[in-house]
Order: sequence, then structure tokens, then C-alpha cells
Amino acid sequence: MTNRTPLIAGNWKMNLDHLQAIALVQKLSWTLNDADHDFGEVEVVVFPPFTDLRSAQTLIDAEKFEIKLGAQDLSQHASGAYTGEISGQMLSKLNVEYVLVGHSERRTYHAEDDSVVQQKVAAAWENNLIPIICVGETLEELETQGQSAVPIIQTINALSGHKVLGDFVIAYEPVWAIGTGKVATAQEASEVATAIRKALQANFGDDAANSRILYGGSVKANNVAGFLQSEQVDGVLVGGASLDAEEFSGISRFKKHIVL
Ligand code: PEP
Repeated sequence: MTNRTPLIAGNWKMNLDHLQAIALVQKLSWTLNDADHDFGEVEVVVFPPFTDLRSAQTLIDAEKFEIKLGAQDLSQHASGAYTGEISGQMLSKLNVEYVLVGHSERRTYHAEDDSVVQQKVAAAWENNLIPIICVGETLEELETQGQSAVPIIQTINALSGHKVLGDFVIAYEPVWAIGTGKVATAQEASEVATAIRKALQANFGDDAANSRILYGGSVKANNVAGFLQSEQVDGVLVGGASLDAEEFSGISRFKKHIVL
């Protein structure tokens, strides 16, 4: 048993307008409340698009829902002439607690390299946000460098060069498993999480090594339990399946599928 609280994170990507967001947050909360979900035992966080955050926040506050709010990205800059960017301060004003940093879609389509990711981690900490640092290898990197090399280097680069480390979460998401229906095996996810934890220990010490490490990539209600059987995997980052309240609720209730 670890003292790390499992975290179930739902990345909606560029889906749902603010009215649809309200409907989904409502349905998800009701479904989890009906199932007597203990949010202290398993944290549930949704990551809507920026334009939905205010509506989701207002609803969560008004209804005292226990679902938490995350953002899909933030600027590395504090303010100024950066058209189209959203700062950490703007997010924290909306009671956003978590922010995805370095998602593979940002790395691929928006040329975010490890240096930008490192600066975004700093910007998150400046604004009391917890970065969920996404790391993972492409199929080609898997074949040429093995499964852990790229996730480890990306983790170290994101966390190096800061005066002190704030809280963070690592999400191991093999790029070849995101949105493809191809899933890493529970054993592969566990092995990479173990390797990342060892690297955290060696480079940044005990507290860092006790951070939560999630698996992400085509997670569904019917395969989540396998990943979370491992003591090394502390939750999941879910894309497509987080858009369906019943499915995401099923993922959040993974404990009922685990046979001990
Ligand atoms: C993701 O977007 O982080 C993700 C894991 O997507 P999917 O679950 O759809 O593979």
C-alpha cells in the first residue's frame, strides 16, 4: 500500500462547448454521487477546453461538487504580448488546480520541446497549479531506444533547473497508445512507472520519488483495473473515454474491478 491518493484525470481535448461541458460535469457528478464515490479516496479531475472552464467552475462551486478542475495547457509567460495564450494566473483565478504540461499533442503539433515544458512547469508552480507532466515515447523511439529511455529523459528535463520543486504528477503516455485503441500492457506501464520513479529518486530525492505516476493511452472502464493493480501506477490520464459520463465514472470507480 502506498500513501499516494489515486488520481483519475479526464482530458477532453478540443471537444464540447460550455453548455455541453455543464451537462457533462453535472452528469458525471450525479453518476459518481449515486455510486457513493469517495472523492477523498480517489481524486477525479476534468480538463475541459479553456472556454468551458468558467462555466464548469461556476457549476462546481454552486453545487459543491467534489470533482476538481484542470486545464489542458498554460503559457510559460506571466503576461504580455502573447496573442492567444492563457496564463497560469488566469487559471488559478478560476480555481483550476491541475494543468497538463507537455501533452504529446502539444509536443507534436505545437513544437513544444523539453525546454518549453520545463518553463511551463515553472509557470504552473508560480501560480500554485500542480503540473501533470506528460511523457512518452513514439513507436520509432520504442523500437530504437526501448520503452523507458524517452520518458525518463523528458521527466528529468522537465524537473531540472528549478530552485525548488513544487508538487507534480507524471503521466506516462506512450504516444503510440494515445487515441489509437492500442494499449500498453499493465506490465509495460508498471515497468516504465518503476523506471521513472527510480530516476526521480536518483535525480531529485525521496519526495519527488513519492509523486504520483499515471498511465495514459486508450484507457477504458474495462481495462483500467489492470493498470492500477500495480503499486507503481497511481492513476490514469484518459482522453476519449472521459467524454462519456458513464464510462469515465466506471474508470473512476476502478476499485470495484480490482481483485486483491
Ligand atoms: C490523452 O489524451 O491523454 C489520452 C490518453 O487519450 P486516449 O485516452 O483517447 O488515448
